Amino acid sequence: MYTKRGILWFRLDLRLHDNEAMLDALSHTDEVIPVYVFDKRLFEDKTSYGFKKTARYRAKFIIESIRDLRASLRAKGSDLIVRVGRPEEELFEIAKQAKSSWIFCNRERTRDEVAVQDALEQRLWTIGQELRYSRGKLLYYTSDLPFPINHTPDTFSQFRKEVERYVPVREPLAAPEKMTDITVVLERGEIPTMEDLGYKDFENDPRATVDFKGGETEGLKRLKYFVWEAAQIPMYKEQSDELFCSDGSTKFSPWLAQGCLSPKLVYQELKRYEEEIGNKKSVNGIIISLLKRDFLRFMAKKYGDQIFAEEGPGKITTLQWKDNNEALQRWMEGYTGIPFIDANMRELKHTGYMSYRGRMNVASYLIHDMQVNWKMGAEYFESMLIDYDIASNWGNWHYAAGVGSDAREHKQFNVSSQALRYDPRGEYAKLWMPELPNLLEDEFQKKNKSII
Ligand SMILES: Cc1cc2nc3c(=O)[nH]c(=O)nc-3n(C[C@H](O)[C@H](O)[C@H](O)COP(=O)(O)OP(=O)(O)OC[C@H]3O[C@@H](n4cnc5c(N)ncnc54)[C@H](O)[C@@H]3O)c2cc1C
Repeated sequence: MYTKRGILWFRLDLRLHDNEAMLDALSHTDEVIPVYVFDKRLFEDKTSYGFKKTARYRAKFIIESIRDLRASLRAKGSDLIVRVGRPEEELFEIAKQAKSSWIFCNRERTRDEVAVQDALEQRLWTIGQELRYSRGKLLYYTSDLPFPINHTPDTFSQFRKEVERYVPVREPLAAPEKMTDITVVLERGEIPTMEDLGYKDFENDPRATVDFKGGETEGLKRLKYFVWEAAQIPMYKEQSDELFCSDGSTKFSPWLAQGCLSPKLVYQELKRYEEEIGNKKSVNGIIISLLKRDFLRFMAKKYGDQIFAEEGPGKITTLQWKDNNEALQRWMEGYTGIPFIDANMRELKHTGYMSYRGRMNVASYLIHDMQVNWKMGAEYFESMLIDYDIASNWGNWHYAAGVGSDAREHKQFNVSSQALRYDPRGEYAKLWMPELPNLLEDEFQKKNKSII
């Protein structure tokens, strides 16, 4: 009997729940072959300013996520084929060997990711196969929006007004009960270690606000913990701005970025909480954060490669920055002399994470106080963040630099008043800067006023 085979290419959707590509593959083929390719370029190449594209925190998170995904697929009667190389080449080889009909995947929309999927598509055509795209990164589907993508409002407040009230968030899809067996002979492939990818393995820093571990299992655990076990939703509004409170904000971002958690599932859990317990205001606060993520992704779609340009989607050419390597180095290492900035930068360096409040302040300080080119900061974040998400990172840097789709929204922070408000006794600063002397509160705050 002829077996119709489909390859399921996992990308930034490392989960079984709410995975549209997976359900599409299962419903159109007799045999689904799940594949993940560690794209060598992400682990070996450098950004334009010379940072490693993926620093060790995200690399470890991805490896853990793939281990978890393989275990989950095996538990459902399937497996995960793993390769290290270029996805467009590795998948093409697997497609030839498996004599599949299609490769199913969730569509990506940003420059490098589009180049990879386009190159794969071209190759597949030469052997009579095709790529079939699904969606699943966001709360909202493009087709449900009341406007075409290129007319998406340029301000978040307007976007929110136009979608929140009128567009329902679809239900997340359930994980399949069972997967199909893989009958074709294919090398399963070892999951690379940190050393295989060119990193030294490491233990997480005990000072980290959350001990992030990659994978759908851990992401679902965090969701359950935050919403139900620790019942943190009511505190979100007051605590989400705290610098080092493990449950102050959800900390879902690394799992959302790699697709270990679906935003629609998060939304559904939040709404269930609201129905059963209440706290509409706090629930809404988290939903607004998720909406911001959607908005920035739509901006990335609308403005394409312009999001990586110095003048940003706003095409602002009147602002000037310097590629000042010496200042950048001090900022990155946490030696600007401003404890509030330095502590945040050291947290990032030692953990791959920093709070939203911290990110806004260090970005503002680099751009407006040190007058360093914002792209240098954005690329450093791209490298270091455990939760790096292309649209969220570049979009937030646009705001900080004032080159976003709504340039009016840019904000320069007064670092000393921010420090006074968010770290009045310097407890956060001392956590990351043990060399700080035991100063009295006002002496400590004077340090936050020193000039660049
Ligand atoms: C300069 C700069 C760079 C950033 N880079 C990234 C990035 O690469 N990846 C990333 O996920 N977030 C980024 N953010 C946004 C924000 O800092 C993080 O999403 C947030 O700190 C993650 O913590 P949390 O999961 O506890 O967030 P919560 O406050 O609990 O929010 C819930 C979720 O909403 C989303 N979210 C919240 N705020 C934002 C925002 N401003 N923009 C986009 N999405 C948001 C995240 O997915 C987050 O997990 C950046 C912010 C700044 C100022």
